[in-house]
Amino acid sequence: MANSKITQDIEMSKSFFQSLFEVSEGERIKNCIQCASCSGVCPFGHLMVFPPGNMIAHLRADMFNKLLATDTIWLCISCYACTQICPQKIPITAGLMTRTKEELVLAGNVPSELQQAFENSQRYGNVMGQSPRKRGEWAEGIEPKIPLMINKKSAEVLWFVGDYPSYHPRVASTSRSFAKLLSVLGIDYGILGPEEVSDGDSQRLAGEKGLFEMLADKNGKAFAKYEFSKIITTDPHSYNALKNVYPELGISYPVQHYSQFLSERIDQLKPLIKQELKARITYHDPCYLGRVNNVYEEPRNLLTLIPGVELVEMVHNHGSSLCCGGGGGGMWLDGFQWEKAHARTSEWRINEALQVEADVLAIACPYEAPRFEDAAKMNPKAAKLVVKDILELLAEAL
Ligand code: SF4
Ligand code: SF4
Repeated sequence: MANSKITQDIEMSKSFFQSLFEVSEGERIKNCIQCASCSGVCPFGHLMVFPPGNMIAHLRADMFNKLLATDTIWLCISCYACTQICPQKIPITAGLMTRTKEELVLAGNVPSELQQAFENSQRYGNVMGQSPRKRGEWAEGIEPKIPLMINKKSAEVLWFVGDYPSYHPRVASTSRSFAKLLSVLGIDYGILGPEEVSDGDSQRLAGEKGLFEMLADKNGKAFAKYEFSKIITTDPHSYNALKNVYPELGISYPVQHYSQFLSERIDQLKPLIKQELKARITYHDPCYLGRVNNVYEEPRNLLTLIPGVELVEMVHNHGSSLCCGGGGGGMWLDGFQWEKAHARTSEWRINEALQVEADVLAIACPYEAPRFEDAAKMNPKAAKLVVKDILELLAEAL
């Protein structure tokens, strides 16, 4: 009996290892040299029972069952720092970590707060569990009116708004700022409103591939109803899904993050940005804009458009940026992370902004305003530090 259990475990381990080869460049996992750089760079590697390099060692020893028996892999916030640093170019985040989370989801080993986000996404099409009918409410009262694709049928660009920019009261301010900028630039655009659902990218990275595919299918069907030449979004997670993952499902459109879209119009924007802002600003590179998609300079170029701005870099910048903690399901695992780590990466990031004596921590991702503002409230030295999206700073400078 004991022997058959051991044989079963070994077979499961081998089959899981084999399944990693199906991920793009997945076979590279065979080339791991056990240098432990991945585990060292991981913000929570020191707290994981099995950090990434150690996971690979256990897979080689056919001991995947040991990995499944722990829950500390949920500390992984899919920040891509391990993938970027790996000298063997092993797709650790997209392969090893995400596939392991998928197995944990199948085994029902999911922290309850993450399970709630999955259920909300399934039932309501957004992680907050809000009514789909209210998805366009953030746009009410704005003049000129935010155009809906259902009325327009065609537009130059389709703005994919996303969950947090639609529903979160703090983040909706960023959406209103973007609407203002699109209006002054005379852009012909439309939004899907209640026809849009969550992009699903963070749910996918948290192990819910089936849910991701269901959400992508709904969005793909909504896109197909209208004519437009590209999609724009304020959310690096939506950008990543639309650019890199939806095409695998046959949903393929040109897509830009707002920083790329506005940077292409910088000559038109420059004379409109008139208000001086005498401030020392530091910019936080979001993982899914910078490290994953290599967009580093466009956000900085937009910030330096504002007269009076002095741009300074934190110790972790560009490719070494420190995750805000919200990716890969981290946004819905705050309680779990606190219980395991008694620390939040967002609080470390606030310290870094204070170290360079910044007045403003500039951001470009909807996960970040709530996370960094909460973290700043925990630090008495950060009372004067302002957290603002680049869109808010630009709209205020008009
Ligand atoms: S960084 Fe790459 S090569 Fe080094 S231990 Fe991690 S997976 Fe292996
Ligand atoms: S993706 Fe980030 S959090 Fe996850 S294992 Fe890699 S370094 Fe750690």
